[in-house]
Amino acid sequence: MDNKMLSEALISMLGAGNVRISEPMKPHTTFRIGGAADYYVTPQTEKQIADVITFLKKSDISYIVIGNGSNILVSDEGFRGVVVELGDAFSGYEILPGIQADSDEVLVKANAGMKLTRLGNQLAANGIAGFEFATGIPGCIGGAVRMNAGAYGGEFKDILVSAKVIDDEGVIRELSADELELGYRTSIVAKSNMIVLEATLKLRKGEPDIIRNNISELAAKRRQKQPLEYPSAGSTFKRPEGYFAAKLLRMQVLRVVQEVAHRFLKSMPALLSIKAMRQLKMYVSLQIILRVLLWRSSVSNLNWRL
Ligand SMILES: Cc1cc2nc3c(=O)[nH]c(=O)nc-3n(C[C@H](O)[C@H](O)[C@H](O)COP(=O)(O)OP(=O)(O)OC[C@H]3O[C@@H](n4cnc5c(N)ncnc54)[C@H](O)[C@@H]3O)c2cc1C
Repeated sequence: MDNKMLSEALISMLGAGNVRISEPMKPHTTFRIGGAADYYVTPQTEKQIADVITFLKKSDISYIVIGNGSNILVSDEGFRGVVVELGDAFSGYEILPGIQADSDEVLVKANAGMKLTRLGNQLAANGIAGFEFATGIPGCIGGAVRMNAGAYGGEFKDILVSAKVIDDEGVIRELSADELELGYRTSIVAKSNMIVLEATLKLRKGEPDIIRNNISELAAKRRQKQPLEYPSAGSTFKRPEGYFAAKLLRMQVLRVVQEVAHRFLKSMPALLSIKAMRQLKMYVSLQIILRVLLWRSSVSNLNWRL
C-alpha cells in the first residue's frame, strides 16, 4: 500500500486530527530520544482501536501500541509503520462494589490509557487502598498490565482480577488473572502481542490520609534511590531471582578491583624498599576503600579474600 492510500485509510477511520505523519517520537518517550514514526495515531473510541488494528493486521503494516512511552526505546531512525497511542482518550475509571458483600473489597475498572500516578492519587482521595505501590510508576494501565509492573513489594498480579484485550486474532475478550499468565515483568499480552483495553483491579477501602502518606513515603524512597531528573525508561536490567541487578553489578565491579589489588600485591618484591612501603600503604588504603564500598553495597556478608 502506498503512503497516500495509507494516510487516506487512517484519516477515514480516525479523522484528520488523530493522524500525524512523520511524528518525532522524542516527546512521546521518557527517554526523550527517538526519530520520527511514519504515522502516529490517537484513536478516540474502542471501535476505532479495533478498526485500525484489524486494518493494519490485514494490510500487513507494522504497528506498535503505546501508552505513556515510559518503557520503550525508539531508534534515531524512527519507526517504519504506525504508532497507536492509547493515552488520554482512554483515561476513565469506575469504582464498583466488591465481589464479596460486607467486605472492604472494592473493584476498580480502569481504561488502558489511565496514568498510574493519576489513578493512584484519585483512588487515595476516594479512600481506596492497595494501589500505592504502583502510584509512582510513570506508565499507563495498558503498559502496566502487559509487563506486570511492580514496585516496593507489590505487582499488578496481586491486584488484577481481569483485563479486556484485543487478542492476536483481533477478537475483544475478557481474560481472567490466571489467563493473563502474569509473571516477572511479563504476561500473555506481551507473549501474544495483545492489546489491553481495560483492567479490573481488586483493591480495598482505606483511610485517605494513610493512603496518601504511604504514597508519599514510597515517592520519597524512589527520589532517594533513582535519578528521576534524567531521561530513562526506568530499570535497564531484569532482576535475577533472589538478587537485584544493581547489587550484582556492584559485586562484579568489586571483584575486578579485588583482582587488581591481588595482582598488585603479588608483584611486590619480598624485601620492602621505601618504594615498596609506599606501595603497601597504597594497598592498605585500597583495602579500606573497598571495605567502605562493600559496606555501602550491602554485600559485606560475602567472604571476600582481601
Ligand atoms: C523513572 C521510571 C521509573 C520506573 N519505575 C518502574 C517501576 O518501579 N516498576 C515497573 O514495573 N516499571 C517501572 N518503569 C517502567 C514503566 O513505567 C512501566 O513498564 C510502565 O508499566 C510502562 O507503561 P507505559 O504506558 O509507559 O508503556 P509504554 O512505554 O508506552 O509501552 C511499553 C510496552 O507496553 C506495550 N503497551 C503499551 N500500552 C499497551 C496496551 N494498551 N496494550 C498492550 N500493550 C501495550 C508497548 O507496546 C510496549 O511494548 C519506570 C520507568 C521510568 C521512566
